Amino acid sequence: MIAARIAVYPGSFDPVTYAHLDIAARASRLFDRVILGVFDQPKKQLLFTTEERMALLREAIADMPRVEAQTYNALTVDFAHAMGAIALVRGLRTVSDFEIEYNMAQLNQTLDADVEVVVLMASRRYAHISSSAVREIAGLGRDPVEFVPPHIVTALRQKFAQRGSGTQG
Ligand code: ADP
Repeated sequence: MIAARIAVYPGSFDPVTYAHLDIAARASRLFDRVILGVFDQPKKQLLFTTEERMALLREAIADMPRVEAQTYNALTVDFAHAMGAIALVRGLRTVSDFEIEYNMAQLNQTLDADVEVVVLMASRRYAHISSSAVREIAGLGRDPVEFVPPHIVTALRQKFAQRGSGTQG
């Protein structure tokens, strides 16, 4: 039997956007299974908890048969290796992304030469979208309906309403 070709697509997904979903869908045409790896503790400050990011992501990929989500707390290559992945998928938006991704790919290839890094170019339609822009737009009172699915718009509203009322979260 031929082994399933598994890819890990890692990120913070804080929150997942239409751009992430586009990359995941395109990766799922290249691999048998695509595991979205939700990094538990990135160095940046998060809006959503890991549980929230996972729940929002799982709902967003519910109709994508070959795509699943898992949280992880290790080096990305070690997580990929543990999942039996042959590749790490990343999306590329800009030249400045390129420098970061190239550097990271080289680090990852040094750490584990068995896991290939596959970079998909951003779709023109989604290239301008980032989670940080989504958070900023929502924080300033606009629904980022062009950038994220409706259930995430709702979650953003709730999150900023909580914050506005002084509740931590
Ligand atoms: P980070 O790795 O900085 O936490 P994200 O979680 O936002 O970034 O994104 C994970 C991956 O998705 C990265 O490879 C990033 O380049 C890619 N990505 C994010 N936004 C887009 C976009 N608009 N088009 C293509 N790829 C994207």
